[in-house]
Amino acid sequence: MTTTSARTETGSTLTHLECTYCGQQYSAAELHNLCTICGKVLYARYDLAAARQKLRPAMLKDREATLWRYREVLPVLYQENIACLGEGWTPLLDMPRLAQAAGMQGSGNLLVKDEGQNPTGSFKARGMAVAVSKAKELGAKAFGVPSAGNAGSALAAYAARAGLPATIIMPEDAPLINKLDTAVTGAQVYLVKGLINDAGRIIKANAARKGWFDLSTLKEPYRAEGKKTLGYELAEQLNWNLPDAIIYPTGGGTGLVGMWKAFAEMEEMGWIGSKRPKMIVVQAAECAPIVRAFEQGEEFAPLWENAQTSASGLRVPIAVGDYLIIRAVRESGGTCLAVTDGQMEEATKEIARSEGLYAAPEGAATYVALKHLLASGFLQPNEQVALFNTGTGLKYPEVLANAFEFPVIPADTNEL
Ligand SMILES: *Cc1c(COP(=O)(O)O)cnc(C)c1O
Ligand SMILES: [Zn+2]
Repeated sequence: MTTTSARTETGSTLTHLECTYCGQQYSAAELHNLCTICGKVLYARYDLAAARQKLRPAMLKDREATLWRYREVLPVLYQENIACLGEGWTPLLDMPRLAQAAGMQGSGNLLVKDEGQNPTGSFKARGMAVAVSKAKELGAKAFGVPSAGNAGSALAAYAARAGLPATIIMPEDAPLINKLDTAVTGAQVYLVKGLINDAGRIIKANAARKGWFDLSTLKEPYRAEGKKTLGYELAEQLNWNLPDAIIYPTGGGTGLVGMWKAFAEMEEMGWIGSKRPKMIVVQAAECAPIVRAFEQGEEFAPLWENAQTSASGLRVPIAVGDYLIIRAVRESGGTCLAVTDGQMEEATKEIARSEGLYAAPEGAATYVALKHLLASGFLQPNEQVALFNTGTGLKYPEVLANAFEFPVIPADTNEL
């Protein structure tokens, strides 16, 4: 006996895929990775005139507190395919004490988008929720991904939620918690004696034979769609205004290029004007390929040798979307800078002491960058800046493991 179940349309206005480099178009009705002509990144395109009719900003106040509130401009066509764990719609926190410590003026000028509150503790949840859901809709039966840590955690969770198997390859020195929260879902986890690009090569070499859909950063079009919701949320939470600057801890750059795409879409729908924030990339001092390429005036960023940083999300020595990141930074009048692991560690403590937020080292890096850019005069004290805390510090116990001394007291004492 066969049963047919009614499907509920999401109202998605997805039309096709388009290469961001050569412009070649592809059908959105089948799975694609990179452009088969030029090897560059594909973007999802929508009928934004239709989206504008279907979804007016005023309607959003009655929508669910997840990123699926923007479903008309997300790629999933049927509600039943959505694997949701409550991702997105994270708070945009005002940080007055931290702003003062950094030498900023005015109230409400330092904001932190706290992505640590996502499922699996990082904003990787956004990209994987959308990519897994869409790939399932298009018939994917299994997934593979290389991961510095958090992408593996997120894929593992959403694959389990979608009822599909996942294989994850991460560097041997990935954080313990990422190994555990990945393996606990039943995902197949391999540790490679190398970096994320080695893991990526091995995934790619096995994907076709093993039947995995490769979900590597920007090597399929839909993780960026999930991450672009950072831009939609930022605008909605600021009542359809954008800050003067965005400081973003950049590995593969999905979130940064995703937000840049979101701003263009929102402008086309008439939700925001043409003003854009300065897009600012922060990387780790010992893995800064985008910073180097930006400073040298290049369009692409070659592999960074011997990449090292305890901010695992920034340990990305080569990025397939390098030209998209650099383009967004240049068009926005932004900049790129690198900070050390020691500075991230100090900033983690400073943010937590002054505002109670235990940030991931990647998030802390944005605050280090803010202070540098205020000191150099690139940012003015009265400008409004949004920092992206891309994960929770709770996922990085190794980083501060030896940072504190805990006085031990006998049980029978009342004196301190
Ligand atoms: C992956 C990751 C990043 C880098 O994100 P991209 O969008 O790939 O640049 C930053 N921070 C954390 C915590 C991450 O997991
Ligand atoms: Zn192309």
